[in-house]
This record gives sequence, C-alpha cells and structure tokens, in this order.
Amino acid sequence: MTAKEIRQTFLEFFKSKGHHIVPSAPIVVKNDPTLMFTNAGMNQFKDLFLGEAAVKYPRVVDTQRCLRVSGKHNDLEEVGIDTYHHTMFEMLGNWSFGDYFKKEAIAWSWELLTEVYKIPKDQLYVSVFEGDEKEGLPKDTEAYELWKQFVPEDRIVLGNKKDNFWEMGDTGPCGPCSEIHVDCRSAEERKDGKGKSLVNADHPQVIEIWNNVFMQFNRLKDGSLKPLPNKHVDTGMGFERLVRVLQGKSSNYDTDVFQTLIQYISDKSGFEYVSSAEPGQKGWNEAVAMRVMADHIRAISFVIADGQLPSNNKAGYVIRRILRRAVRYAYTFLNLKEPFLNQLVPVLADQFKGVFDELYHQKDFVQKVVLEEEVSFLRTLATGIQRFEKYEGGKVIDGNFAFELYDTFGFPIDLTELMAREKGLSVDMEGFNKALEEQKNRSRAATTIDTGDWVIVNEDRETEFVGYDLTELETEIIKYRKV
Ligand code: ATP
Ligand code: MG
Ligand code: MG
Ligand code: MG
Repeated sequence: MTAKEIRQTFLEFFKSKGHHIVPSAPIVVKNDPTLMFTNAGMNQFKDLFLGEAAVKYPRVVDTQRCLRVSGKHNDLEEVGIDTYHHTMFEMLGNWSFGDYFKKEAIAWSWELLTEVYKIPKDQLYVSVFEGDEKEGLPKDTEAYELWKQFVPEDRIVLGNKKDNFWEMGDTGPCGPCSEIHVDCRSAEERKDGKGKSLVNADHPQVIEIWNNVFMQFNRLKDGSLKPLPNKHVDTGMGFERLVRVLQGKSSNYDTDVFQTLIQYISDKSGFEYVSSAEPGQKGWNEAVAMRVMADHIRAISFVIADGQLPSNNKAGYVIRRILRRAVRYAYTFLNLKEPFLNQLVPVLADQFKGVFDELYHQKDFVQKVVLEEEVSFLRTLATGIQRFEKYEGGKVIDGNFAFELYDTFGFPIDLTELMAREKGLSVDMEGFNKALEEQKNRSRAATTIDTGDWVIVNEDRETEFVGYDLTELETEIIKYRKV
C-alpha cells in the first residue's frame, strides 16, 4: 500500500464505524498562551473534553499535522539520528466524545491493525496502566481484560504513570492509556526476548505506533479524582511509523513518505543515500543530513503555510532555528553552498496535494519565504563556520564566543551546541545566557529614544538578517489566503 492509501484506509475504516471525517487543524496555534504548535491530535478538541463546547459529532476521525520541537514534547535531537522521531508528523486519530469507550476502541484498533492492515498478530504488544497507589489511581483492569481477548498475556505489559496515564494538565480530564507497539525484528530475533522485557527493551526496531487514551476522570483542584459523567476516547497513531511497518521498512525514511524528498536531495547533491550507514561509517553524515533536510522542510513548509513566518521571536524563531539547522546540514555535509531547501517545497506540495491542500495552494509563496531565509543565512554561515573551526579554547566553548556566533552570524544557540557536539565539545550556556541578557538590557535601554514630541522605536537590531520586505510578504499572505 502507498502512504496515501494507508492514510485513506484509516479514515475510511473509522468512517465505516460511524465516524465523521474532519480536517486537520492548522499546525500553528494562535491565541493559546500554553501552546505554540499543535503537538497532538487532541489539541483542537480540547474544549470538547473540557465540556466547554457543544459536541456536533460524537465520533470523529482525522489526520492531524503535528510538530514536536518545543515545550513538553521536543524530539528535535532525535531527528535523522533515530529512524522514527520527526519534527513534523501526522497523527491519525479516532475520537469518541461521550460516546463509545474502551470496548469498541480496543476492538477496532485490533481489527484495523490485524485484519485490514494485516500486521502479523505475533508482532504486536500492548501496554496497560498498572495503577499507582500513592496517587490513588486504579489499575486499568478493564482494558487488561479486553485486550486478553486478542493478545496473549505475555504480550500485555503493565506500564507506569509516566507512559500509561494521560493528563491534560494539573487539573481537568485524565485517564489511563494503552499503547500498541510493533516488534519489527525478524522472527528469529523476536524469539530471544520473553514477554515484558521484549517490549521494554530499548531496541530500535521495537516501536510504539498507537496510543489509546481513555479519559474517565476529572482531576479537581484539591487533587482528588472524580469519574467523568461523559467518558471520552482520544487516540493517536504515528502515520509515518505505520507506513514504515506496512511497507516492511526498517526506517520511516525508507518509505514513500520521505523517499521522494531524499531521492531529490541525493540526485541534486550528487551524494548517495546510504540508509543502512551506521554512526562513524562512510555515508552516515550524509544520510543524517538528508534525513534532517527531508524532515525539517516538512516542518518549515507546513508552519509557513499555516501562517507563521520565520522571525526573531517565539514561534517565528522556532521555525527559523529549524531552517538554519537544515541549511547548515546541507552546507557542511552535502556541499550545498547555494540556496537549496526551497527547491524541496514544490516536491513536498505535490506529495500532499489532495491531503493538505493548504501547502499546495501556497507553494510559491512558501518557497519564496524559504529562499529568502536561505539567502540571508548563507550570507553569514560560511564566515561563522570558519570562525568556529578556528576556535581554540578547550573543551568548553566560551559563552561570549557562542554569543558572537549568534549575534553577528545568526547561529541559533542550539546550532552552535550541535556543531560543538559533533566535535566532542560543549558550550558554556551560562556565559551565553549572560551575554544574551546583557544585550537585551542594552537594547531595552536604547529602544525608546525620546526626541521631544516623538518617540522613535528602534527596530530589533537582528532584523538585519531578514532578507525580505515584511510588508511585501504580508500583502502576499493576504493575497494567498483569499485563493
Ligand atoms: P515516543 O515514546 O515514541 O516518543 P510518544 O509516547 O511521545 O512517542 P504520543 O504522545 O503517545 O507519543 O503520541 C501518539 C503517537 O504519535 C505515538 O504512538 C507515535 O506513533 C506518534 N509520534 C509521537 N511522537 C512522534 C514523532 N516525533 N515523530 C513521529 N511520530 C511520533
Ligand atoms: Mg515522545
Ligand atoms: Mg511513548
Ligand atoms: Mg505514547
């Protein structure tokens, strides 16, 4: 099955079980001080779970574009190094708002995985909440008994609060969850492990694909738990991981979700993509660079298409950091010294045509923003790298030097940290933060210059790195939004 067919099959399956197919919410979250980007399928339904919005459809299914690069979920460091954490990914989900509960959710997830997608049953493991006496949380015996109908007991694993109990926050809806894992090792290798240890074994080929959350309690301000009058189901399955399992690959990047991009990068750069290269081996750095670029361009493109431009603060800086990270990988490991990432935008947009048309309709605009960002960073990247290479100051990079790279050459601090790590060095973060704070104080003092009747507000001095005219872009956004 192609990725497109796999996604469609998920939606159709739950549609056949009475679910209404809804579109993905934007990946950029506006007007929520607690969240910059959508990081799970449930975000857009928060008000329904809190009982603050009316339920229009009690059963819903969708694929949600998510980003996990900040806050509670930050997977950025794994990207390109492991085979299954991405910055941007799709979370397939089915929901019950006060409608069906554990019985149906468990039976349907099993039916879909084993009868529709035909994943061999002996490759699947599930986890169930073991309970937590101290916290007054009961074991999820209900889920355990339900799973027992399908899964032999040695492959039902009990999990702790960290992995198997979901809470929206300190108060509010919460409940136990059941995860489904797939063991992609060969049958031979699978025989070695026994029950529990097998799933918990930190083996790169044993991966979590689906989480089923059963919201059944409400945590009150005094810490006590009350049963919810309406119980809900919230599930999330990593689409790229599912595709990898169904296409029989040992890496998400070997599926058709990523291969079009990776092949494009490989062709244009002239470097071969060696999927199996191990750290330290020939081809490893290039492979990591290609995976990072393919991953990051997805995050960058969808964030821009959903209305967040790269900038020097907050969500805008998150995306600029990711973009610069990708540019540096391309520059250093694939010898791509000219703007390149922007060329991936139309490739990606074509791939998502009919799925997330937001990107397709705005591809020229998104490409232009990426190009301008690349041009602007490439102006200072080479000199910054030279300075970095020549730096002689021992094992810990001086905070002031890291600040100079940041301030003069536009190197986000996590990029400097990454480059340092590649050389077995670390960065004096305290020194960096101090230098940053001092600069903020200086510019705060210089921000308002009182000249009598007029107060002139200085522009943020770093905006000199922005290579494009913001007002022009803003006009374009409006233009494209109307399409
Ligand atoms: P993991 O333990 O692998 O980091 P998680 O427990 O943090 O995953 P959940 O919050 O349970 O993930 O999200 C539901 C599903 O979304 C996961 O079961 C997984 O399939 C998928 N998923 C989570 N994070 C990522 C990611 N960074 N890239 C791709 N898929 C992801
Ligand atoms: Mg995680
Ligand atoms: Mg997990
Ligand atoms: Mg999980």
